[in-house]
Amino acid sequence: MKTECCLVKDLLPLYAENMVSDETAALVAEHLNECADCAARAERLRQPAAEIPAPEATADEAAPLRRVKKNLKKRKAAVALLAAAAAFLAVFAVFSHLTRPNYVPFENSGAAVHIAANGVMSVSFSEAVTSCRVVPVQIPDAPEAYEIEIEAWSSGWDKILGKKAGTVVLPESPAKEQPQRVYYCDMAKQGDLLCLYGEPRDDGGIVLPRLFLGAYFFAALALAAAAGLLRVLLRRNEKAATALEYILFAPLSYLAAHLVLLQGFVSYSAARDFVMLCAAAAGVYGILAGVRMLRKTEKY
Ligand SMILES: [Zn+2]
Repeated sequence: MKTECCLVKDLLPLYAENMVSDETAALVAEHLNECADCAARAERLRQPAAEIPAPEATADEAAPLRRVKKNLKKRKAAVALLAAAAAFLAVFAVFSHLTRPNYVPFENSGAAVHIAANGVMSVSFSEAVTSCRVVPVQIPDAPEAYEIEIEAWSSGWDKILGKKAGTVVLPESPAKEQPQRVYYCDMAKQGDLLCLYGEPRDDGGIVLPRLFLGAYFFAALALAAAAGLLRVLLRRNEKAATALEYILFAPLSYLAAHLVLLQGFVSYSAARDFVMLCAAAAGVYGILAGVRMLRKTEKY
């Protein structure tokens, strides 16, 4: 009996699929009538669908696969973000370098004021000056009178374009008055004011460097500290901690950009510098966010 059971057990799969000869089928059927064990086994083989808990098994196998796929997607996004941010920073570095104003000291500027026969005033520069800014300044205690302040610089970008400041006509006041004085702001020398035309004021005067970038720097520092502290306090709340990290990256990026691009807080072109700082900070933010995303995906 035992030996027969072993033989039947081996034949059962073929028997269930009707892949045995009629003689073998008859023998197996005869044994199944006599042997309850083998009959039960044959019964199980005939109901494969009921026997295997198929849907749950495939779901269990698919879940890790889905996670791997999702992880791969995130990694791709992180790498794309990193590449974009790095490319942006590289382009920005070149752009920033090319457009940086190199202020021309007065003695190289060749700045001279001319008055035409019709009274129109202009200022001419040497070839060393590629760009200039002419700023009318109201004199506080003399509403009709005004002065002109001139800033002159060169930049790599201007040189590529072959740009020259040349001769610039000075703006008139709304009352068609000519300026009382014309000053050259020597930014290369801490903003010394040199009088090109008219009687210089008693105070002589210097251009004050704009210091608001310092205030922005410390505001960013305070924001970074606040976000960092909250991040530590809320470390158990994963969603809040993640959001706070992305918030924290913003002031950190700005601080990094400031430290790399500026020396201290003194700026004679603060508006331009601020735009440059924000652009550089955006690039740094992309790098920080990309690295963080990449590190999160590797944890799986
Ligand atoms: Zn049997």
